[in-house]
Amino acid sequence: GFTVTVFEADAKAGGYLRYGIPDFKLDKRFIDRRLKVMEEEGVEFKTSTQVGKSGSMFASEALVEIINTQEVVDDFDATLITIGARAPRDLHLPGREGVGIHQALDFLSLQNRAYCGERNECRDIEPIIAYGKRVVVIGGGDTGADCVGTANRQGARSVTQIELLPKPPEHRSSSEPWPLWPKVLKTSSSHLEGCDRLWSINTNRFNLVDGIIESIDCSKVEWVEEGGKLKMQPVLGSEFNIEADLVLLAMGFVHVVQEGLVADLGLELDPRGNIRTAGTFHSSHPKVWASGDARRGASLVVHAIADGRAAAEAMMRGL
Ligand SMILES: Cc1cc2nc3c(=O)[nH]c(=O)nc-3n(C[C@H](O)[C@H](O)[C@H](O)COP(=O)(O)OP(=O)(O)OC[C@H]3O[C@@H](n4cnc5c(N)ncnc54)[C@H](O)[C@@H]3O)c2cc1C
Repeated sequence: GFTVTVFEADAKAGGYLRYGIPDFKLDKRFIDRRLKVMEEEGVEFKTSTQVGKSGSMFASEALVEIINTQEVVDDFDATLITIGARAPRDLHLPGREGVGIHQALDFLSLQNRAYCGERNECRDIEPIIAYGKRVVVIGGGDTGADCVGTANRQGARSVTQIELLPKPPEHRSSSEPWPLWPKVLKTSSSHLEGCDRLWSINTNRFNLVDGIIESIDCSKVEWVEEGGKLKMQPVLGSEFNIEADLVLLAMGFVHVVQEGLVADLGLELDPRGNIRTAGTFHSSHPKVWASGDARRGASLVVHAIADGRAAAEAMMRGL
């Protein structure tokens, strides 16, 4: 057997399952139960311990110990990097600096931390509260849906979710026969609880009054097929305005956070900016492997679990 030590920057292990996905979608007792099994098997969890300095962490710097990346790699026979793909996509538009425009994960993570009594352990950021506000969520995926559900639970006055892509069909199209993954309309319980959903909408600017978000200028787009690919075209004269007191950017994640740990080790990246691995999960560093979102890009829980298991097996063979 082997001894296993997990270094976790946050106060508790669990990643986005604990501090991203809301409690109404995932009961955190399931994570605690699984962690307890791992601890009893002998895995040592060193929480509030960040490997390398990246500045992108949520927890208060005063409560986190930052340890040297090279020392970790030197001290252990093998190191597996599972730091997720946490660099968020942003909208660099006029007015982006306005008060009331936030990344979705700041909103969701604060709510999760407040719910489990860890609000005081976060770095010094203002609470983001949807109560009484006209909330606009930009991004039509799972993270956006979680923002809709959380905003409604906080008592938002209205919630509108806008998406750049066209509305997907309700049923599997003939061009996506089983077992291909069907790109069909997903309606979650959060949507059913109440929100307006708009598709094929481009965001053009954030309008501020005294530095605070007041509305968003939008326009409609059309998606036309060109050479087998969908291409976006603006619809002339379709400009409109949505009033907003709180805007949540839920447009996904671009890649792994590259500053800190990844840069410290000089790891090679793939064309999308995630950690490049061979089929054995081996990175470009002889003592370092990678798995989960950090090498695949933002994905799903099942893939992270399967990746972790396969990577452990690959490392075992390599040691
Ligand atoms: C809002 C939201 C909703 C989602 N909903 C779903 C869903 O419904 N279904 C689904 O299947 N998937 C969902 N996902 C995706 C899923 O959560 C991720 O694919 C999965 O959590 C990836 O696991 P991971 O272990 O690779 O990375 P993460 O979950 O991102 O975990 C990375 C961990 O590494 C820690 N860390 C990072 N850097 C360091 C460092 N330098 N030192 C020490 N620790 C560090 C982080 O604190 C974190 O605990 C959702 C994601 C989000 C954000």
